[in-house]
Amino acid sequence: MSSEQGNDLPPHVLIFPFPLQGHLNPMLNLAHLFCLADFHVTFIVSDFNHRRLLEHSTVPTAFARYPGFQFRALSDGLPDDHPRAGVRAKELVFSLEKVTVPLFKKMMLDENFLGGAARRRVSCFVADAMRFVPEFAREHQLPYILFQTASAAFYWAMFCWPQLLEAQEIPFQGKSMDELIKSVPGMEGFLRRRDLPSFYRGDDVNVLILQVFTGGKLKEGVIFNTCEDLEGPVIAEIQKHVPRIFSIGPIHEQVKSRLMKKKAEVSIIKASLWAEDRSCIDWLDAQPSKSVIYVSFGSITVVTREQVLEFWHGLLDSAQRFLWVMRPDSITDNEGNDQVLAELMERSKEKGLFVEWVPQEKVLNHPATGGFLTHSGWNSTLESIVAGVPMICWSYFADQTTNSRFVSEVWKIGLDIKDTCDRLIIEKAVRDLMEVRKDEFLERAENMAKLVKMSGSEGGSSYTNMDALVQYIKSLVF
Ligand code: UDP
Repeated sequence: MSSEQGNDLPPHVLIFPFPLQGHLNPMLNLAHLFCLADFHVTFIVSDFNHRRLLEHSTVPTAFARYPGFQFRALSDGLPDDHPRAGVRAKELVFSLEKVTVPLFKKMMLDENFLGGAARRRVSCFVADAMRFVPEFAREHQLPYILFQTASAAFYWAMFCWPQLLEAQEIPFQGKSMDELIKSVPGMEGFLRRRDLPSFYRGDDVNVLILQVFTGGKLKEGVIFNTCEDLEGPVIAEIQKHVPRIFSIGPIHEQVKSRLMKKKAEVSIIKASLWAEDRSCIDWLDAQPSKSVIYVSFGSITVVTREQVLEFWHGLLDSAQRFLWVMRPDSITDNEGNDQVLAELMERSKEKGLFVEWVPQEKVLNHPATGGFLTHSGWNSTLESIVAGVPMICWSYFADQTTNSRFVSEVWKIGLDIKDTCDRLIIEKAVRDLMEVRKDEFLERAENMAKLVKMSGSEGGSSYTNMDALVQYIKSLVF
């Protein structure tokens, strides 16, 4: 595709994430890694998110130092006041297909695949798991690499759907949730039905959905935001089926080590879609070492008032300090939301602080933070692991049900309370993590943090795999 252009132009990678916070963060970090390799990068973003990035994040200024980087903003097809959270996040899938994809295709054709005098036509398409991508890439002979924003274990458990179906381990249809699953090689000893990705829950198996999440068969390879120390046996299984695997995670950590190597000022590119409340750092500064449990359920989880109250009672009864992120849109039965919050804040101000959005990596790396009560989103899980912070996992959906099992049973750096929401269980889990078994969890979490950080440093497996990815993309154009 580049025959009409000089060979002196660097490869041009087109990155297209699904337009949600948890997808933007790792894919912007990946873009940063490509910029550090002197590639040109075009990054597709929804115009809704682009406006929020300009308003709340350091992304535009951070990328301004890389002239080869450009955003292209396209409509996501939803009105500004759409919540894009909870079950309604699904509506993004449909509006993306209906509105964004046609705009994207038109842009690609009209602009000669984004090529010009100063920029090669796109040499490699790195995209999230979206239905249109494999076919589009094949039609235009565009090398396509799937970027998996979830864990490798999620990808593998989804990949194995035919075997799960054959062995009648899915659909669940009332079978025991605690029974061990036998048809996902490498996870036989610990994965229960309840730990399978949540897309398997329900009495029907939607094969189309399962295929979308593994990105179809038409791909050159898969990039995983994981590393061998975390998911080595799973990666080995996937390797038997996918031509090229690049496990380069945790990506946010690798960006740091590459910037340090370049002696560039280490500036973490944070893609916040909400305003960060920095007052929480002052509050943390005033708390004793490892005394605070940080509570956050990510960017799209929604909870009911009843669940909020169970967590709140559990936390108060545990007598531990807590910092709780509650997004303004995160309580479903919204009436009286402000009043509930105001009341909770007033009644717990001795021990706790409520905020709407925080600089999460800063919070996790703060000396006062001793635990993380999380929904087990993959980014949050990785950020906690890198920070050496043990977790209590209350998974919401997707890969979170699987990630939480790895935290408790494989890495043993926390507790899994999925499928419950009871103040007594919460109180006990918080006490166990922060008091009773504190030393044991901290020791393992700190050891894991060391290993994972090494994998992203020069000579480590993720670092070496990133070099291989760069070489592979270069080989596509030269
Ligand atoms: N996050 C943040 N501030 C907050 C809560 C979350 O910056 O107050 C970031 C967090 O650091 C992570 C992302 O939002 O990178 C959430 O991604 P994750 O995969 O954990 O969950 P999702 O939101 O996709 O469910």
